Amino acid sequence: MLLNPDGAPLGKLPPQAWMTRPATRAVMDALTAEGDAARFIGGCVRDALVDRPVKDIDIATPLSPETVMARLEAAGLKAVPTGLRHGTVTAVADGQPAEITTLRRDVRTDGRRAEVAFTDDWEADARRRDFTMNALSATIDGDVYDYTDGLADLSAGRVRFIGPPEDRIREDYLRILRFFRFFAHYGRSPADPAALTACRRLADHLTTLAAERIRDELLRILDSPDPGSVVKLMQGEGVLPVILPEAAHVDRLRMLAWLETSALNMASVGPDPLRRLAALVAVPDAEAGEALGGRLRLSRAWRRRLATLTAPPVEPGPEMPGNERRRWLYRLGADRFRDLVLLTWAARRALDPGPASGTADAWTALLTAADTWEGAAFPLRGRDVTEAGVPRGPAVGRYLNAVKAWWEDGGCRADRAACLDYLATLVADDSEGAPPCNSS
Ligand code: ATP
Ligand code: MG
Repeated sequence: MLLNPDGAPLGKLPPQAWMTRPATRAVMDALTAEGDAARFIGGCVRDALVDRPVKDIDIATPLSPETVMARLEAAGLKAVPTGLRHGTVTAVADGQPAEITTLRRDVRTDGRRAEVAFTDDWEADARRRDFTMNALSATIDGDVYDYTDGLADLSAGRVRFIGPPEDRIREDYLRILRFFRFFAHYGRSPADPAALTACRRLADHLTTLAAERIRDELLRILDSPDPGSVVKLMQGEGVLPVILPEAAHVDRLRMLAWLETSALNMASVGPDPLRRLAALVAVPDAEAGEALGGRLRLSRAWRRRLATLTAPPVEPGPEMPGNERRRWLYRLGADRFRDLVLLTWAARRALDPGPASGTADAWTALLTAADTWEGAAFPLRGRDVTEAGVPRGPAVGRYLNAVKAWWEDGGCRADRAACLDYLATLVADDSEGAPPCNSS
């Protein structure tokens, strides 16, 4: 953190690799070629000031979007008109994108979207942003402009609305969730009481937002260092029940996050927002898990994963015999198996943090089994069954399933020769009696 010896924030950002690299310089040079201004703004400035990795670069300028396009093209840079009406152009230099937005002020807002007008007033642009720490801007020389006391708030971990929280939330209800997201990542307790009051009062309006926007914020909240505390805060303020009435297990989420980030030192285990979501919610069955994923507009793959994790076919724990473990690794795959081990562990520890929930070594052994699972393939095909003398028809599938069930019961270890032997004994037995019934 950038601080003077007396604790006051500096208005200067030391040179940053992302600022000084040729691609960034080329874009800034193109915009400022004729003496116009351009500054880094928002998340990149905020994150650089607190020594966090900068993900994407946002630039603000009083130049119109058309002029921005022209300046970039004149400098031989790729310019994409991402959202000309909203004033946004994406510059791509050396494959690295930077989003350039013309300074704006709000003309009209309806809680979901804003109608904006372009301006050359830096302060007006800063004041239409959500939180003081998000309104900082910096020149390429590192001079930081702070119109809203954002530096002091950032260094104190204060997530504070610019202006009266209720007014700002009525302009865009997503700001309720953004408040909790930024508090989760940059805040220090206690959270701003005025902001909490406003969030509580206006929480019901969250239902008017597009599900995708809610999903993105929710997943980012869950992806924070201590999601349990934030989720509990959101629950207390009546915000969580509006967007996620299924939330029922904050303690399990808390335990899972602790396992993921502190308790284990395994490369394969880290924060995972979807697994955390699964830990948090209670749903009656896999169908309800799918439905929740659908409501949150998750991808198909994530919907399936959420269904498996919220209505697990098995709860792998230290008591699971070795063959069972291998069978479930085969059935679920290593990643899903690891998810279920972590969720089961978190659930049991949440109920009883004492020794009754199993030793860490025993649980770690299950996770190591997932890490080292080399996969397995059932070695027989239908042809093997017909070659063993079974006529084509439904009996072939039944024999195959019977051998497969035996193979799985044995921990998926039997090789082709052993499976053929077992098949032969089944066929021989049945030539004296009835063929096997279908089992799988
Ligand atoms: P990150 O990209 O790390 O999530 P960020 O601050 O860049 O953080 P974005 O959502 O990319 O967040 O938004 C960029 C900037 O735009 C913010 O810093 C903020 O100044 C402004 N902004 C974004 N969304 C809103 C909003 N709903 N209301 C007001 N200002 C917003
Ligand atoms: Mg951003």
